[in-house]
Amino acid sequence: MEDTYRHKGLRKRLVESIRQKGINDENVLEAMNKIPRHFFLDKAFEEMAYEDQAMPIEEGQTISQPFTVAYQSQLLEVRKRSKVLEIGTGSGYQSAILGAIGARVYTIERHEALYLKAKAMLDSLQMSNVRCYYGDGIKGLGEFAPFDRILLTCAATEVPEALLNQLAIGGIMVIPLGSQKEQTMTRIKKIAESEYNYEEFDNFKFVPLLSGKNSKQ
Ligand code: SAH
Repeated sequence: MEDTYRHKGLRKRLVESIRQKGINDENVLEAMNKIPRHFFLDKAFEEMAYEDQAMPIEEGQTISQPFTVAYQSQLLEVRKRSKVLEIGTGSGYQSAILGAIGARVYTIERHEALYLKAKAMLDSLQMSNVRCYYGDGIKGLGEFAPFDRILLTCAATEVPEALLNQLAIGGIMVIPLGSQKEQTMTRIKKIAESEYNYEEFDNFKFVPLLSGKNSKQ
């Protein structure tokens, strides 16, 4: 994989367009300028990698729209060394952005094929602060809890109980909540054990959070 001057130029333009759309967290914008999104797409979609669009990946899933990645990352208020759990690794692009911000990322994917592909790409980028797991993210990753931040990159109809339990006090969860058709970006702050503050933001459309694992044949 090559990151040419052309790719870098297109990426810079994309990041500026995302800034125009209202994203102002410089750490997020810097990370998006740094990570080559075309590395996370199939060759057939390479030309489209720097359009602000969601794109298909394997297993009928999608790599989120760059604006959505920026929006979720900004709401999550990620800091250097924040311990972040991401549900829905998909292509691994969002994980790479969190990693480039300097977070300690634990990302989980239920499709084994996607998990293997994303892990290989993140390893090749030498992102040692991003760890990939294959499993059902609804259950979280109890062995590594608590997390400072939890991010769902798939649509949930309700907040998984296990994830609330695995959020540190003072921690933040960003979760698209709603129906299959449309979800409201929701930010949950854990004030104290069993005390939460909910804030609602814009509407989005994500692929669904599904239970169980899907192994490679
Ligand atoms: N962050 C990804 C977005 C991928 S789409 C990216 O940047 O490319 C959302 C992903 O969530 C899909 O790959 C889907 O398989 C995964 N997913 C859905 N339910 C899940 C679950 N219970 N546990 C883990 N991953 C899940």
